[in-house]
Amino acid sequence: MTRRILRILARGALAAACFSTAAGALAQATKPRVVIVATGGTIAGAGASATHSATYQAAKVPVDKLIAGVPELSQVAEVRGEQAFQIASESFTNEQLVTLAKRVSALSKDPQVDGVVITHGTDTLEETSFFLNLVLKTDKPVVLVGSMRPGTSMSADGMLNLYNAVVVAGSTDARGKGTLVVMNDQIHSGRDVTKRINIQTSAFSSQWGPLGMVVEGRTYWFRAPAKPHTRQTEFDIDQLGSLPPVYVVYGTGSMTPELYTAAAKAGAKAIVHAGTGNGSVPGYAVDTLKALRAQGLQVVRSSRVGDGFVLRNSEQPDDKYDWVVAHDLNPQKAKILAALALTRSNDSKELQRMFWQY
Ligand code: ASP
Repeated sequence: MTRRILRILARGALAAACFSTAAGALAQATKPRVVIVATGGTIAGAGASATHSATYQAAKVPVDKLIAGVPELSQVAEVRGEQAFQIASESFTNEQLVTLAKRVSALSKDPQVDGVVITHGTDTLEETSFFLNLVLKTDKPVVLVGSMRPGTSMSADGMLNLYNAVVVAGSTDARGKGTLVVMNDQIHSGRDVTKRINIQTSAFSSQWGPLGMVVEGRTYWFRAPAKPHTRQTEFDIDQLGSLPPVYVVYGTGSMTPELYTAAAKAGAKAIVHAGTGNGSVPGYAVDTLKALRAQGLQVVRSSRVGDGFVLRNSEQPDDKYDWVVAHDLNPQKAKILAALALTRSNDSKELQRMFWQY
């Protein structure tokens, strides 16, 4: 080979090296910046052995260790973690809900942040996701994720769930869809999703179907949320101090109306009745609820049946009693909306309007 040819080859190699470095830098620069806000739950859980898939301690592993456990995250996003809490989600209080929402709101306003993932226990994940869906004022993806098995278990689901959640939080096509929940390869609306099975990795579903899927680092969308969310609602976490107490009373055969009075004595501003069937109220309990309504408490009829929706003035004359129906919201989601609605109005008609709307 002549010296001239050698020189040309060397120049070419240099140019190629420069190009690949520039491409790498570009890829680096264009990676979405995702913050993982950890709150605990099974996704941060640890068990005594690999066979302990259902008995373990939730909320043990710190966020940095969670992130280090999924090195593939760095291929899809620039990720950093924050530890908000380290609790099992059944221990979430309204105060923690508000604190978390304020922090996520601040992150969503940070120009250095493209998306937020919240790791969360699965027990009350549907309440937090609905709350955030109503109070955040952002188009940026906010994605909640959990796991049904701790990371120490065989076939643990947390790693892939977390990877998928980061993919969704970093996707521009996830913007403007409200709070999302990513579990078991599915992308759900934070409004619709509920935990339906307490022991399998397919624990979460939405009665109106998931919004999409996330598979091998790509999102696939099939529908859009129909109800107003985030920027479109009248609730704003930055203006909110605290939530009024709202309690759920579970309806069964042979129940005692004293459960309602106990809720009122505990300070409830609204009672969500998790009624049988179409939000039915036992005949012998109606007078107690009417009396509590007369004292100023709001009464919201929801259903303990997983699917369907409660119709107004069916089973009970809601117009006459001045009660509200929860429509398709399950009792725990109705509790969230009732509390938020009460921060705006104590007029039952306004509450009903919000229950139809959201
Ligand atoms: N009890 C746990 C929690 O909600 C369950 C879970 O995360 O799967 O924190």
